Amino acid sequence: VIERAVILSTGDELTSGLTVDTNSNWLADRLFEMGIDLAAVITVGDDAERIRWAFTSGLERADLVVSTGGLGPTADDLTSEVLAATLGRPLVFDEASAEHIRALFRSIGRTMPENNLRQANFPQGAVILENPLGTAPGYRVEVDWKGRRRHVVVMPGVPREMKPMTEGQVLPWLRSLDESGRVFLNHSFQTFGASESALDEMMQGAIGADEGRVSFRAAFPQISVRVTVHGEPADAQAKLALLCERVRGRIGDFVFGEGADTMEGVVNRLLRERGWRLATAESCTGGLVSERLTTVPGSSQVFAAGLVAYTEEAKRSTLGVRAETLERHGAVSAEVAREMAAGARGVTGAEVAVSVTGVAGPDGGSEENPVGTVYVGFAADGLLVSRRYKLWGTRDWIRLLASQIALDWVRRHALGRRPEESLLIRK
Ligand code: ATP
Ligand code: MG
Repeated sequence: VIERAVILSTGDELTSGLTVDTNSNWLADRLFEMGIDLAAVITVGDDAERIRWAFTSGLERADLVVSTGGLGPTADDLTSEVLAATLGRPLVFDEASAEHIRALFRSIGRTMPENNLRQANFPQGAVILENPLGTAPGYRVEVDWKGRRRHVVVMPGVPREMKPMTEGQVLPWLRSLDESGRVFLNHSFQTFGASESALDEMMQGAIGADEGRVSFRAAFPQISVRVTVHGEPADAQAKLALLCERVRGRIGDFVFGEGADTMEGVVNRLLRERGWRLATAESCTGGLVSERLTTVPGSSQVFAAGLVAYTEEAKRSTLGVRAETLERHGAVSAEVAREMAAGARGVTGAEVAVSVTGVAGPDGGSEENPVGTVYVGFAADGLLVSRRYKLWGTRDWIRLLASQIALDWVRRHALGRRPEESLLIRK
């Protein structure tokens, strides 16, 4: 059984700050889900001496070293060479891998540069991990390190090659090593409206340390809450279900989705279920709400139109906001937000419409409407509401938050709840 791991990321692009090391982060998450303790993440440049130091340090401290990067065909890609030398094993040429690389080049009508065959060299004893998406296969190798059993997994640095390799080949192998038959199960909730510390407070005491683990991850503006349990397959399922019920009981008001759900995905699904189409009337978000909704495949069935009306004139002419309302209350007001939503609905014939008007900053704030003041409006059959929010942060952040709130209003209405009760707790 593997208890402890070290992740090794290699590449000058990482140590020079050119590329963010997302591989480690993603891998750490997968290992955590399996209950493997991560002793360290080591990042080194394309330098033989440092790569050797990193492998040696990893093998000293952990049962498993997971390495990404440095498997390319060029001279600065050193991982396999250095690992073989560190282990005192020769590099062995694998004809099947070489053929895969040749075939890949043939399929795109290019001749293979000879140095690509370097990618078919593996430390002796390696088990090859196929790479359907790229030229460099990965591999794993079992090692006797000073009398202790270790494993090294080596994968390409390209994230879209590394991830399927991990999920399809590395994780199943890791699971097969756990002969106890115990499994790790987890479930994620996607939340919006409460900060991480507010959620943490609400979860206080809900799950005992011996029952499972709760972890938070903020991917603004949404925060995922993940519950992980460990146990016999039959028990673990039931235990997870029980703990998830408890989580819903504590933070259910803020949960908008589960698993890999996104706000726009959930809104799309709900609109489809209701058979409704949505129109948006946006000012300070400049089309962000409609942009987000239309990233979801199939949005043409649920999205009628996105009207971006920036000036007062545009609010009048495209959305039918009354000149008198603009004059009396100003463009950033509850009244205008309502008329924008009603107008978008009227103009497009959509069943529901949401609107956003506000001050995203950094300039343009006033005493009455400081930067961050945002009104969201909503119109549906027999319903016309709006509400003022006081948002914070940079321009980007305010716009993103505003778009998230607008989408949350649509979600709530589709669930038969009052859209304007969408909360935002800052803590
Ligand atoms: P290739 O066959 O593509 O050369 P490789 O194993 O040599 O594979 P690298 O050359 O190290 O991989 O990296 C290829 C690209 O993958 C880098 O330019 C970088 O954009 C990305 N990459 C590498 N390592 C990481 C990492 N740790 N996190 C995120 N991206 C990475
Ligand atoms: Mg590299």
